[in-house]
Amino acid sequence: MSKKILVIGSGIAGISASRKLKSYGLETIIVDKGDFIGGRIATHIKEKENNKFTFFHGAQFFTARSKNFNQLLKSDINKNYIKKYENFSPQRYRGFPTMRNFLSSISNEIYVKQKTKVIGIFKNNKKINVLYENSSKEDTYDAVISTLPAPQNIELMTKFPYLSKVLSTASYDSCIALMLAFKSLPDTIPSYFDLSKNKSNILSWLASSNDKNCWTIHANAIFSNENFIKDQFFIKDQILNELPKIFKLSDHLISSQIVYSKLHFWKYAKVNNIAKGIQIDPNYPIAIAGDFMEGSRVESAFISGEKAAELIFHRLN
Ligand SMILES: Cc1cc2nc3c(=O)[nH]c(=O)nc-3n(C[C@H](O)[C@H](O)[C@H](O)COP(=O)(O)OP(=O)(O)OC[C@H]3O[C@@H](n4cnc5c(N)ncnc54)[C@H](O)[C@@H]3O)c2cc1C
Repeated sequence: MSKKILVIGSGIAGISASRKLKSYGLETIIVDKGDFIGGRIATHIKEKENNKFTFFHGAQFFTARSKNFNQLLKSDINKNYIKKYENFSPQRYRGFPTMRNFLSSISNEIYVKQKTKVIGIFKNNKKINVLYENSSKEDTYDAVISTLPAPQNIELMTKFPYLSKVLSTASYDSCIALMLAFKSLPDTIPSYFDLSKNKSNILSWLASSNDKNCWTIHANAIFSNENFIKDQFFIKDQILNELPKIFKLSDHLISSQIVYSKLHFWKYAKVNNIAKGIQIDPNYPIAIAGDFMEGSRVESAFISGEKAAELIFHRLN
């Protein structure tokens, strides 16, 4: 009889877990509370006065050093949903034309349901019950993989103390991202600035999306953690103040070119401490996956999803 398997989270860990289970002949359903697939591999699209602005306000690129992720990217390069990003070693990649196209492409044979929030996970004999927001009845599954960032995952795992304990060992830094669309910037400006080594700066990374006039500016962990709940005008001003010296343009020129701006607040952005311990409950068919198990990168989250899928597959067989 076919198994009913739930994967919570349509980020790269959830997609990778589902793909792996599918390769073993097991179908899954992915649910995610957000509007769009991808989690922190995020694309923001704004249409304004006949213009369309596209931003990558979460992950800016990813590496593919591991065999399975590399193979997956190769097939998407052929389909044109992935492009090499600049000339880095190891090579970095980006979704094309947007990050979302890549995520949709690699999940096209998986059932993904967005705008569906899980609010409780419970034991039911040897199965797992799940409660959704706006529902009074629990659904029963043969197995569950939960891929939310560790602090959100803990809230759902109160009935699973072994996994809660593992999740409690992980921690994250926040990241405040400012998206800016410009009318036009001089061609001499590079497409990215890596400021992560410069500790005196409040920014860590600035890059345009595949549209060279749409930029995302990431504040560094210290600034983001300290200012996360501060006034948005204050935060925007602080970030904008840094731009003239980075772009080597006047304050006036920069502000006259901005046609759209938006802040995004990632509470759990980058893993600070990786979780230590088991990935599957010793007694129940429930596993956890995500960057918090392997490291703060897209590729690490992908690997963690595959590991959780392996564990669930063996538990069910
Ligand atoms: C600003 C920023 C920049 C980054 N830059 C890079 C980079 O350049 N390169 C790189 O490799 N990595 C980067 N990262 C890290 C990378 O994005 C993450 O490591 C990776 O995307 C994590 O994937 P995940 O599947 O583990 O989690 P997520 O992508 O967070 O997926 C978890 C999903 O769970 C969903 N969810 C949460 N709660 C519930 C609920 N109750 N019910 C249902 N669904 C729920 C969320 O909506 C989300 O979609 C960056 C991250 C951020 C935030």
